[in-house]
Amino acid sequence: NILADQIAAGEVVERPASVVKELVENAIDAGSSQVDVEVEDGGLTKIRVIDNGEGIANDDVELAFKRHATSKILTKKDLFKIKTLGFRGEALPSIASVADVELETATNLTTGVKIKINGGQILERKMISRSQGTSITVANLFFNIPARLKYMKSVQTELAVISDIMNRLAIGNTQIAFSFSSNGKTLLQTAGNGNLQQTISAIYGVNNAKKMLHFSNEDLDFKISGFVSLPELTRASKNYISVLINGRYIKNYQLSTAIIKGYGSKLMVGRYPFAVVSIVLDPLLVDVNVHPTKQEVRISKEEQLCKLIKESIANRIAPENL
Ligand code: ADP
Ligand code: MG
Repeated sequence: NILADQIAAGEVVERPASVVKELVENAIDAGSSQVDVEVEDGGLTKIRVIDNGEGIANDDVELAFKRHATSKILTKKDLFKIKTLGFRGEALPSIASVADVELETATNLTTGVKIKINGGQILERKMISRSQGTSITVANLFFNIPARLKYMKSVQTELAVISDIMNRLAIGNTQIAFSFSSNGKTLLQTAGNGNLQQTISAIYGVNNAKKMLHFSNEDLDFKISGFVSLPELTRASKNYISVLINGRYIKNYQLSTAIIKGYGSKLMVGRYPFAVVSIVLDPLLVDVNVHPTKQEVRISKEEQLCKLIKESIANRIAPENL
């Protein structure tokens, strides 16, 4: 049902960056150790994600483009125990309903499948020979939804949003080697060796990374750790603050605010620190099903967590601890 897919696409696929996020999360779910992302014109012309993950079995390729066909949720309770990033089976069908999609995938070293889909219709399918992994190309996003296209910001803005998502995905997955290029120019390359500090260096630059301090702390419910910048290293935007919950990048206003509050009066008005705060908690304390794109989450005992974050950062940047 292409119309239903397009309606779902309205929620899941807001802009090129949403496509990048969904495709990279699929690559992560597939157990990839290397993920290469190429975009053209802020992702509006082309987005390509290449991974070396487990691939999709020949017989499952069409299924992957059917809504909810692949949903991994069995009962409502399972929502709290989600290990993989994808769990709704909505992304691929949604994306394929509003773009030209070409997918190549193979689960072993000899045979794979190539499939072309245009606006939800399968145009071509054939067996191919390729190495294990998946390569998916999404071209002409929103070609059949002029109203949505009209709302796209400039190529520059869309690229900035994609870049931001790529940075956060790399921060949250230090064991994966990511590359990201825009119109042929490499913008990000991580080693994938599991080292968070090196990943931060690759993203923010060696000199900025040198001005970031490691911290860790815990209470009965939460373990937190990460890197926060010296109060002198700030930016005029909150984009340099990343929060991960159980390894997943999330958005939560209260938690970002707690990080900023940790700096107290050390930050000038309108200036924000660099911070990567990774929180480990019992999945029962988090509800990730607030929004289909899964970035917004609700947390039980949020006040307690905010206090822990704020105090840990305040303590780490206290003059006596520098
Ligand atoms: P979800 O991730 O919520 O399951 P998606 O629509 O994003 O739904 O993907 C549908 C299915 O296609 C996935 O469940 C997975 O089985 C398969 N899939 C998608 N992308 C990849 C990939 N890069 N590697 C392996 N399998 C993939
Ligand atoms: Mg997915």
